[in-house]
Amino acid sequence: MYDIIIIGAGAVGTSIARSLSRYQLSVALIERENDVSMGATKANSAIVHGGFAESHSKVKGRLCYKGRKQFDRLNQELNFGFDKIGSLVLAFEDEQLSKLKELYENGLKNGLDDLEILNHDQIMNLEPNVNPEVKHALYCKGAGVCCPFSYAIALAENAVANGVKLYLNTEISAIKKEADHFILYDQHQNTYQSKFAINCAGVQSDQVEQMVGLNTFTITPRSGEYMLMVRGSGKIANTVLFQMPTKMGKGILVSPTYYGNLIIGPDAVNLNTGDKDTHTDRLLNIYQQARHTTDKINIKQFIRSFTGVRAVSSTDDFVIEKTAVKGFINCGGIQSPGLTSSPAIADMVLDLLEQEGCQFNDDPNFDPHRKPIIERKTLLPPHEIEPLIELESSPEKVICRCEQVAQATIVDAMNRGIPVTTVDGIKRRTRAGMGWCQGGFCRERVVTVMENVLGHPVDPGFDIEHSGINRVGKNEIVDYIKSHLE
Ligand SMILES: Cc1cc2nc3c(=O)[nH]c(=O)nc-3n(C[C@H](O)[C@H](O)[C@H](O)COP(=O)(O)OP(=O)(O)OC[C@H]3O[C@@H](n4cnc5c(N)ncnc54)[C@H](O)[C@@H]3O)c2cc1C
Repeated sequence: MYDIIIIGAGAVGTSIARSLSRYQLSVALIERENDVSMGATKANSAIVHGGFAESHSKVKGRLCYKGRKQFDRLNQELNFGFDKIGSLVLAFEDEQLSKLKELYENGLKNGLDDLEILNHDQIMNLEPNVNPEVKHALYCKGAGVCCPFSYAIALAENAVANGVKLYLNTEISAIKKEADHFILYDQHQNTYQSKFAINCAGVQSDQVEQMVGLNTFTITPRSGEYMLMVRGSGKIANTVLFQMPTKMGKGILVSPTYYGNLIIGPDAVNLNTGDKDTHTDRLLNIYQQARHTTDKINIKQFIRSFTGVRAVSSTDDFVIEKTAVKGFINCGGIQSPGLTSSPAIADMVLDLLEQEGCQFNDDPNFDPHRKPIIERKTLLPPHEIEPLIELESSPEKVICRCEQVAQATIVDAMNRGIPVTTVDGIKRRTRAGMGWCQGGFCRERVVTVMENVLGHPVDPGFDIEHSGINRVGKNEIVDYIKSHLE
């Protein structure tokens, strides 16, 4: 019998698991996919938001800044990659100044102390590549970018190192409430028992709640498509560049990623399904809107499109609460800024658990630290890399040419307490396959290293090839955009 079972290993579930691992509690984290971080946490804008955009009247408004403030310490402990580059909300019309002031005032209510409204010259000084028609901007100095899947992986690795039991490929399909505990059933009818259960199932969080006979909210999946450009392309922006927010969200952003790519997107389309295809017409629209922020985006640098799916709740807010079923806690509908808020969501859930009777005694063996798998680096020139690519099996052998990932890095990623069984699992942890050729060169080489570690054959396919998801390819989108804009 576990004290606590967490259903869903995204940013929220892993954050809660890691927070609970500080205490003398037995905790299980259960995830239906083959890795942690496979839902919204894998595919989003990766922004550690300022915390001024969501109304103070909402839970998400109150939690965002509380979460953001923890990222420095978390990154020092867990080394997932976080850079406080700041953000700008750009106003191209004088009439939008009043909306910026509203955001500023809302930010103050949410506790922020690092907001400033900038004029045209100040903006151009900070961001020389921005459309010079810009009139005003809201600057948040402490906002930043992180690597979201590295974040969840780091939290999960540290939670596991501190005693949390992680079950992958395990989909909870039914939950039975007994007098003082829960029995959870997976797809194979295996059972897991716990005194408390926490629903962190993202887009499926309404369905998981229904398993205990409740129906307090529903989720509408809302997709957002992105375009990602090659490493180095992020240099055209120094900060995260937002346009004015709309009813559907924060609008199209232009931003460097933590590793120096340029990301543009997302749009927002409500769905009946969790469709993760990308579409030429939507990408064209994103590209055109992003070009209003800066005309320095070079479509020839495009390497990948992808879709993230937001879990939009019928309450239009995070659903973080105790329920009518004692011991069952909802943590659903965590749409943006859920990544940023996740440390504060974990704090809130621990409070709720305490109210429900869970006892917290410090675990003297808790170790908050986790070493990085990779760090940001300047790539070496080709003549230095070529001999390392040709090496026989060796820790120094360079496996991925574009991102210069060594064999030892891949082996390290596989020996951290979380089974890594797919080439995508290696890609998320090491960046092998994230470069210009998108794994064309390294995929088989990664598989060879994995097979040597695991001692059995590994499927060489990327997840996308088994998923039925259709993504617009490089040539297709470049041709489509050229034909529509020329
Ligand atoms: C397009 C987009 C852009 C965003 N941009 C940002 C941003 O820039 N900054 C920010 O702060 N936030 C952003 N967000 C929000 C952020 O990504 C989410 O709030 C956060 O990732 C939610 O984490 P989660 O753990 O609740 O959900 P998820 O990451 O979706 O995790 C839920 C997990 O539960 C698992 N699961 C579901 N059902 C079951 C079951 N029955 N049994 C076992 N496991 C189950 C799923 O497989 C999944 O892994 C964005 C979201 C999207 C979609």
